[in-house]
Amino acid sequence: MQRYFGTIQDKKAFLKESDVHHLVDVVRIKKGENIEVVDEGETFLCKIEATSPLSIEVVNLIEENREPDNQITLAFAILKGDHNDLIVEKGTELGASTFIPFVSERTVIKVNKGEEDNRLRRLRKIVSSSSQQCRRTNVPEVKDYMSLKEVLDLEFDEKLLAYENLAGESCTLLEKASSIEKGKRILIVIGPEGGFSPKEADLAASKGFAFVSLGRRILRAETACFASLSILSSLSEK
Ligand code: SAH
Repeated sequence: MQRYFGTIQDKKAFLKESDVHHLVDVVRIKKGENIEVVDEGETFLCKIEATSPLSIEVVNLIEENREPDNQITLAFAILKGDHNDLIVEKGTELGASTFIPFVSERTVIKVNKGEEDNRLRRLRKIVSSSSQQCRRTNVPEVKDYMSLKEVLDLEFDEKLLAYENLAGESCTLLEKASSIEKGKRILIVIGPEGGFSPKEADLAASKGFAFVSLGRRILRAETACFASLSILSSLSEK
């Protein structure tokens, strides 16, 4: 069934213009057919009353639980090419609630902090369509660019940093995350293609970050994002 993020008001559902176009002109929905509309984390079964103009009636609330029990924030160093798109698309499917793209010493591309450039706009669009596709009830937030230093200053219940120099050591993310209780706000930080500098690692340690390993091999940064989120979300959905 088609699912959209929209607004529910007086037993009617309202969609964004682009979704109205998609439903009417692309899907060619018919009168009497059902769709699901998600508003503020709640999902409603709805029925098409008319298509021109589009009128959607709410049938009932659907009970569902699609979100992890922990709030997982992924801070990732901005990468070259379209890897960033992949990180937020797959990261949305894997349950991240927030993405923070950041710049560190070894980040190769340049960004203007505080500016919504085409890359950020695209990432924000991707999380919305990916949430729709994987039937999430919350669309993750993509924060503005930060510096690694700003990320390390953030307050969370659990602050984790995947450190490539620990590959093969016993402090695995799986082990560390297994002891995290439900309902916590977790931050996991993944470095750029060139990894973290020793100075950055020292700073993270001084800010109370726990360093974790993702296994015996060195993963590419985007793979490290997917591996971390898979571990954190499966443990949050037990
Ligand atoms: N160029 C670096 C590797 C960087 S990998 C080197 O050769 O050492 C990019 C990021 O992915 C790292 O900063 C880290 O956050 C994460 N990562 C990759 N493999 C990892 C592992 N086995 N354990 C922990 N983190 C890892």
